[in-house]
Amino acid sequence: MYMTTDEIRSTYLEFFRKNGHEVVRSSSLVPYNDPTLLFTNAGMNQFKDIYLGKETRPYLRATTAQKCVRAGGKQNDLDNVGYTARHHTFFEMLGNFSFGDYFKKEAIYYAWTLLTEGFKLPKESLTVTVYADDNEAYDIWKNVIGLPAEKIIRIGDNKGGAFNSDNFWQMGDTGPCGPCSEIFYDHGPGVWGGPPGSPEEDGDRFIEIWNIVFMQYNRKADGTFEKLKKPMIDNGLGLERIAAVLQGVHSNYDIDLFRTLIAKTAEILNVSDLSEKSLRVISDHIRSCSFLIADGVLPSNEGRGYVLRRIIRRAVRHGRLMGAKDVFFYKLVGTLCELMGKAYPELIEQRQLIEKTLKKEEEQFLNTLDRGLAMLDSELDKLGANRTIPGEVVFKLYDTYGFPADLTQDVVRDRGYIVDMDGFEKEMTKQRERAKSASTFGIDYNKELKLSDISIFDGYNHLSCEGKIVSMFKGSEPIESASTDE
Ligand code: ATP
Ligand code: MG
Ligand code: MG
Ligand code: MG
Repeated sequence: MYMTTDEIRSTYLEFFRKNGHEVVRSSSLVPYNDPTLLFTNAGMNQFKDIYLGKETRPYLRATTAQKCVRAGGKQNDLDNVGYTARHHTFFEMLGNFSFGDYFKKEAIYYAWTLLTEGFKLPKESLTVTVYADDNEAYDIWKNVIGLPAEKIIRIGDNKGGAFNSDNFWQMGDTGPCGPCSEIFYDHGPGVWGGPPGSPEEDGDRFIEIWNIVFMQYNRKADGTFEKLKKPMIDNGLGLERIAAVLQGVHSNYDIDLFRTLIAKTAEILNVSDLSEKSLRVISDHIRSCSFLIADGVLPSNEGRGYVLRRIIRRAVRHGRLMGAKDVFFYKLVGTLCELMGKAYPELIEQRQLIEKTLKKEEEQFLNTLDRGLAMLDSELDKLGANRTIPGEVVFKLYDTYGFPADLTQDVVRDRGYIVDMDGFEKEMTKQRERAKSASTFGIDYNKELKLSDISIFDGYNHLSCEGKIVSMFKGSEPIESASTDE
């Protein structure tokens, strides 16, 4: 049944609203009150304190369409973009949550009913995994839902081949945790798998669309598990992945939204082959970059801001790869606003800031990009049969030409080279030491730099001045962050 991305989002939220769930707005991509997390990367993040028993809400069931970024920290899909059919740096996770209310039976039943009746997916196309010893979930799939045994795969801590799944979820080393059940859609036989060692090796024939977490234990510091009095549910369905299924395409990059973004990118860059990997990369990156800026992250040399800078520079490099002569990336913001501004008005509210920031960042990088690429080429020539780029070269590219190490890796990946990350880190440490000893007034410039990390502010509550952003932290004094210049 064909549905647009917008229709799927609203159908999902409406289904759970009708089933007693409070519809809650997506939280910011900058996690509120959680310094352990780089970016919001799952629907449950904003409910973490409820799961931890530190907070209660007037509702026990909630549903959201959550903005997520997985481009740094523990969850990092940046290197998958352009290579797999199913990964983005920014995506929307549709979620439904039970805070000690319903548990396994209802969670499975809701997911199955929405997929097979709401979205009318053919039952034969769905396969599920359960954690190896989770007989309860197995029995529900088998006896309540009526799935044949060969469609229910038990997976232990070792990942399960084509079903790339580990099936035990934990919030951290301690705290709530429990087994998962994942629902995979079979796109049918085809050449979806990639060569061994590549990110797409596991194959994209069976694509994980829905992940149900059954939080039933509390893991204690000594490693033992204690049963939770009130077990909880955390569910996530990837919007772009279900859209691919419902729109009859294999790759997320062929859904309505990405087709439009890719077509626009191709038009701006005057590219005729719409299957170019770089088009997928750029159309992915414009979403994460725009949404991050809308939520108050600005390019900087540290922390969140540096992740943003790295994504922007990758996009710029991919533009160059397709012959971009001039600044182009910011020109996609208007199209993105048209596509997603209704669901996420912050995009429209912050449009000018997004465009200005992207434009400036690209202009800056263009000053050194070509020279850096030329330098890299000559270094590759010198390497001969050696396929590892020395740390000093990676550092020079970083220090002189503004190439983040992962960008260098991205440039050489398809040519079969890797970068010596340990060597690069050593050079970075040396530089930090040099900076420290150069400080005559006892100022630690590394600490000083950290200020630029604080480019996080309440996206709806900021002032933008020329070259400077006045940031406001909830509950603390306004902090003036470092200039966005390098
Ligand atoms: P995968 O194994 O495919 O990387 P995951 O197990 O890491 O996915 P979860 O953490 O279980 O993903 O997230 C819940 C759902 O969110 C997934 O089932 C999927 O539909 C979606 N999802 C996760 N990561 C991405 C991503 N990078 N891009 C698009 N959708 C994603
Ligand atoms: Mg993953
Ligand atoms: Mg998975
Ligand atoms: Mg999963």
